[in-house]
Amino acid sequence: MQRLIAELYPTCRSITGNGLRSTLRTIGDQIPLTISEVPTGTQVLDWTIPREWNISDAYVKDASGERVIDFRRHNLHVVNYSTPVSAKMPLNELKRHLHTLPDRPDLIPYRTSYYKETWGFCLAHNELLKLPEGDYDVCIDSTLTAGALTYGECVLPGEIDDEVLVSCHVCHPSMADDNLSGIAVAVELARRLRTQPHRLTWRFLFIPGTIGSIAWLARNADRLNRIKHGLVLSCVGDPGGFTYKRSRRGAASIDRAVEHVLLHSGSSHRVIDFFPYGYDERQYCAPGFDLPVGCFMRSQHGTFPEYHTSADNLTFVTADSLEQSFETLWSVGQVIERDRVCVNLSPKGEPQLGRRGLYEGLAAGTDSRQYEMALLWVLNQSDGSHSLLSIAERARMPFNVIVRAADALTVAGLLKTTL
Ligand code: ZN
Repeated sequence: MQRLIAELYPTCRSITGNGLRSTLRTIGDQIPLTISEVPTGTQVLDWTIPREWNISDAYVKDASGERVIDFRRHNLHVVNYSTPVSAKMPLNELKRHLHTLPDRPDLIPYRTSYYKETWGFCLAHNELLKLPEGDYDVCIDSTLTAGALTYGECVLPGEIDDEVLVSCHVCHPSMADDNLSGIAVAVELARRLRTQPHRLTWRFLFIPGTIGSIAWLARNADRLNRIKHGLVLSCVGDPGGFTYKRSRRGAASIDRAVEHVLLHSGSSHRVIDFFPYGYDERQYCAPGFDLPVGCFMRSQHGTFPEYHTSADNLTFVTADSLEQSFETLWSVGQVIERDRVCVNLSPKGEPQLGRRGLYEGLAAGTDSRQYEMALLWVLNQSDGSHSLLSIAERARMPFNVIVRAADALTVAGLLKTTL
């Protein structure tokens, strides 16, 4: 995951253009990816696909010809989607187009102007203070032309058509946690899923933020009812604890599965309710769709000093955090894959478990008392109306213990899956 992040980090991405395409090609080297191009001008829901943006160079040169702001040194130096410009101007005029963060004076901010035609540069506030009065050569060698919006999809068919949607945005330039960590974890999830049998169909979306999910929703309106669970991944590589933002529904299976896994993980975490701001969960959870899609994060966007700045770099994302995010999401996937509703086939009184050998053969390391309780909980609650996840919640036990008990009871002929 760290290797992929390091490989993708230098690319200048945006919501359209060749940086986005090359990013999707790199993802496509790791997992099977279908690339879609939606032409400029296409109406998608209430939005229109914008002109495509590409950039080859940008700088501000001082009187001596030295590049005092240089896109080639850091692509955050240019306001993403800047219109082309080539001009000479005095500092006070240039300043109207310069963005800094006076409260974090060594960091370059990340700014975009997708839907308003303008141009600008971003720089560390301390660098701005060093600029002497005088005339500056300003150049942004960018193009805004009829082209397309590009997104990628990886579908891993399961035994059934019910789908899990995993969505991450791929439109941010050089930032590691916001955007690249989500991509890396999603790619790794897809890679592991490909090696294991799975019941559900998994769909991974690599899309530009907002306009990408809106375009995808517009083009897939007739099949959205297949989506039974969904997660937006963002900021999953920083050292902060987990943050889970519930879907608009609040208690969808995915919400309960994530909360359950986090509760039993022992890792620091918090769960927050849905609110209509953030990443693409805003679109999936719009009232006209109301899909069961939550947002899985470590540090929450907008709440940490590195967010949307040059400090969100390769050193901000750690292997341990990526690994822990991946394993947590894998466990969530196992819950939704294996959750089911069962019926006790011997419901009149407790069946005699010892006679059937159900108390024996416990796996090494299993807490046998907990496992016995799990057998009793599954038998008692399996009346056709409680899923195994509901039973795990009520019994306050890890889902995998409940599933192991249900599997053993099924083999012993005491339990049948109904749903
Ligand atoms: Zn962002």
